Amino acid sequence: MISEKKVTVIALGGNAILKPGQRGTFDEQMANVKTTCEQLAQMVESGRYKIVITHGNGPQVGNILLQNETSKEVAAPMPLYVCGAQSQGLIGYMMQQTLHNLLAQKGKGSIPIATVVTQVVVDSKDRAFQNPTKPVGPFYDEEQAKILEREKGYHVREDAGRGWRRVVPSPDPIEIFEKEAIRQLVEARSIVIASGGGGIPIVREDGGLFGVDAVIDKDLAGERLAVDVEAKIFLILTDVEQVKLNYKTPQEKGLSHATLEEAKRYHAEGHFAKGSMEPKVRAAIRFIESGGERAIITSLDRAVDALEGKAGTTITN
Ligand code: ADP
Ligand code: MG
Repeated sequence: MISEKKVTVIALGGNAILKPGQRGTFDEQMANVKTTCEQLAQMVESGRYKIVITHGNGPQVGNILLQNETSKEVAAPMPLYVCGAQSQGLIGYMMQQTLHNLLAQKGKGSIPIATVVTQVVVDSKDRAFQNPTKPVGPFYDEEQAKILEREKGYHVREDAGRGWRRVVPSPDPIEIFEKEAIRQLVEARSIVIASGGGGIPIVREDGGLFGVDAVIDKDLAGERLAVDVEAKIFLILTDVEQVKLNYKTPQEKGLSHATLEEAKRYHAEGHFAKGSMEPKVRAAIRFIESGGERAIITSLDRAVDALEGKAGTTITN
């Protein structure tokens, strides 16, 4: 047993760090991180939860890729998986400092907080590698896109009328490689930030580990993390307060609670959009199937209410 407090893995959505329409300056991101960490600090202060944090990295890794691209003549560009590692450090730094400052104001500045650069093992035979679907990085015109396809072997695709983009595979996470190190930190009372951006995708080959250009869904990787730290609660914070059935139809209806069986049925019926809500519900289902107590999907500002059963969507056995 890791502790008597309820270990809770919190998966933060994109809007926790950058709001739609923002350019992504350091000050903008720090202001958003502060609002987010105020919620997290409340949870810590209540003394009821031991938190482990994971987060998305889409806009941040997008900007790092753009910086690599535009400065490639003067500074050597890095592979996508190294950009992913950079984004974990960037976001981890902002969060661990901000959370520390807020906790220190509440007299809890002695709680250790650490970010773990996290590798996540994927299967090189995962079907996703035959069918890259996840757009990453800058937009190109068709001609530039075709050059990248020829010269770098990128897969490129037209993205909803907005231009051409590189697409990469989105394989299923198998194992958080640093799980033992993370467990030890959690046991030693640290708040841990891990598996950012879904983790750095790696494969095991010939006895070694190697990075691969792919993007792992952060909610699915968050579920692996939750199981590894023996979390009781998996809290997915996004930009909607509740999961909806019959989403965007006249029959749309908020879902307050679902049993595992109900959640599986709704999932099979196709209520949740691929690439956004579907992986969250899939991750919640996997968590309960793996022995988790409660999976909650809600918005950042309702996190504390949702933990008390007063908001959001809760899935239990
Ligand atoms: P995050 O950055 O938090 O992972 P996503 O955009 O990936 O955010 O997922 C949240 C989005 O999922 C919501 O903003 C909403 O537009 C969309 N969504 C798709 N299907 C549903 C549904 N059935 N109920 C609620 N939201 C849904
Ligand atoms: Mg998402």
